[in-house]
Amino acid sequence: MNFHNQVVVVTGGTRGIGAALSTAFIDAGATVIATYAGNDDRAQTFKATLEEGERLHLKKFDVSKKDQVDLFWKEVDQEYEQIHVLVNNAGIRKDNILASLDEQSWDDVLDINLKGTYLMCQGAVLKMMKSRYGRIVNMSSIGGILGLAGQSNYAASKAGQIALAKTLSKEVGKRGITVNCVLPGFIETELISDLPEAQVKEYKSQVPMKRFGKPSEVADAVLFLSSDKASYITGATVEVSGGL
Ligand code: NAP
Repeated sequence: MNFHNQVVVVTGGTRGIGAALSTAFIDAGATVIATYAGNDDRAQTFKATLEEGERLHLKKFDVSKKDQVDLFWKEVDQEYEQIHVLVNNAGIRKDNILASLDEQSWDDVLDINLKGTYLMCQGAVLKMMKSRYGRIVNMSSIGGILGLAGQSNYAASKAGQIALAKTLSKEVGKRGITVNCVLPGFIETELISDLPEAQVKEYKSQVPMKRFGKPSEVADAVLFLSSDKASYITGATVEVSGGL
């Protein structure tokens, strides 16, 4: 897959799955705008590790804050003629069983995972509609269709990303823009590094492939959906979950 002369926005593009996405897009020839929330050290270290780091442009802002997202798209308008791909990858989890889930944990997860996706999509489609081309991929989760005890806020946000993608795909299809979702299962990143060892063992035993996935395995699916090869795929969900 060839992304030469393409500009790709990856939110949360400096760590975990996002870093794998940024790396894969750069390896395929793209210029990548990787956004992050606040971890400057990790963002700079990631850039330094890339062989072609000059094609990684970093932007720091909170995807859940409309004023910050608006400013990002204003800067993008000034600095880049066209945006070809947006991957809504930034996400958090704040787990608890619903009976004990506090309102702040509900709001934080919905704001970053779902409202952030809405805000980022809005800026992207306004730009993509002008060029009549675009690829949007939401990093949802298998949790969005299966549910996992202790993740009502997270699962709701991830199901919302799927519904948003299906709806938006119908609104922008005629403008040459596709909108799809990738649904990872358990992927080895810091997001799930707090899971107790016993729970990791239990979850791995539930995965038909008997292992957690790697960020690069998620990136492969995202690059396909972002490429010319996926020109007639929109409103779709692709599971990268080892069979969950
Ligand atoms: P991660 O390692 O925790 O990285 C999260 C990234 O998102 C970081 O770059 C972080 O920036 C950024 N971010 C967090 N809050 C943000 C905000 N408010 N505004 C902008 N950026 C923000 O997570 P991951 O495991 O790679 O997960 C990436 C995506 O995949 C998430 O949407 C997650 O829900 C989804 N997913 C992951 C798994 C899994 O098992 N890992 C499974 C299914 C789905 P900073 O570095 O500045 O904090």
